[in-house]
Amino acid sequence: MNIILLGAPGAGKGTQAEKICEFLNIPTISTGNIIRAALKNGTEMGLKAKSYMDAGQLVPDDVVIGIIKERLAESDCQNGFILDGFPRTIPQAEALDNMGVEINKVIDIEVADENIVKRMSGRRVCEKCGASYHLEYKKPDKEGICNLCTGTLVQRKDDHPDTVLSRLKVYHEETEPLKDYYAKQGKLTIVEGQEEVADTTALVFKALED
Ligand code: ADP
Ligand code: ZN
Repeated sequence: MNIILLGAPGAGKGTQAEKICEFLNIPTISTGNIIRAALKNGTEMGLKAKSYMDAGQLVPDDVVIGIIKERLAESDCQNGFILDGFPRTIPQAEALDNMGVEINKVIDIEVADENIVKRMSGRRVCEKCGASYHLEYKKPDKEGICNLCTGTLVQRKDDHPDTVLSRLKVYHEETEPLKDYYAKQGKLTIVEGQEEVADTTALVFKALED
């Protein structure tokens, strides 16, 4: 199954992607993680993306479309994949359609803006492997330490409150229209983000079964 997760930054797409990944055994493709890895490795693409990312702006469409094209061509995507953070604009969605990959389900996780701001302030990521945690909703086993690689957990620069507001604005202007785009294709299911991660997961799994 080929799945897209939509939703505002901090709505919990990444966390739900992990659950689906375990359940269906298909890879999660997160453009945000790919860009952050490129940045860490000092590649040209990473450097180009940095200023946009730090400002809470979108990286240009041609850059992310290129990333996705390459990634979807890899063999582990043959039996399905979960897209987390792509597409984020109508041109990106159109590019995906033009690549000839069929999307089966689009799940939009809805969280009110005021809760987004609250959630983002508690978000932490592993400096080393990029795994994502939350001080309240997804605590690591050991405070400040990654469960997977024992790396140090830090706050992402673009998770600081003022950047979060620009990201939300960009989300409403550029990404939210995708709900309509996929509703017209008959692929969209809206899931209300719940207080408890497991409750949201139950709704997401239900959406996948329908
Ligand atoms: P979140 O975890 O908040 O959903 P991501 O990690 O997906 O955020 O993305 C972080 C940043 O990376 C974005 O604010 C943007 O600058 C860049 N980015 C990621 N995916 C895309 C995309 N599909 N199009 C443009 N920019 C992107
Ligand atoms: Zn780690």
